[in-house]
Amino acid sequence: MARYNTRVWITEDFPHDPVCCPICKGQDLRLIGCVYRAFEYEVQKGLIVSSKLDMSEMTEQVHQVLCYTCEILFLLEDKELAQLREANFILAEQLSPTPKSRLV
Ligand SMILES: [Zn+2]
Repeated sequence: MARYNTRVWITEDFPHDPVCCPICKGQDLRLIGCVYRAFEYEVQKGLIVSSKLDMSEMTEQVHQVLCYTCEILFLLEDKELAQLREANFILAEQLSPTPKSRLV
């Protein structure tokens, strides 16, 4: 895949009905993600004695969206993870002997 600019975007804030680019509203996109299937293993004395794989239930989860118009690859992130990342950044800046905000 070609190299694109990237932006982190909160999953819940990404337009999904219809799915479109949050910047240009374009709908020429590539959705990148994973498919999950449910399974159930019965384990006795450490050995799998039976297994069920539900072939009818399938969950798709999109992790990245590429907008061909903007040439931006959006990295979708859960809100909780974004809040943790922000809190971690603030804490690291407070603990730093020369916080970036004091260099300006
Ligand atoms: Zn776009």
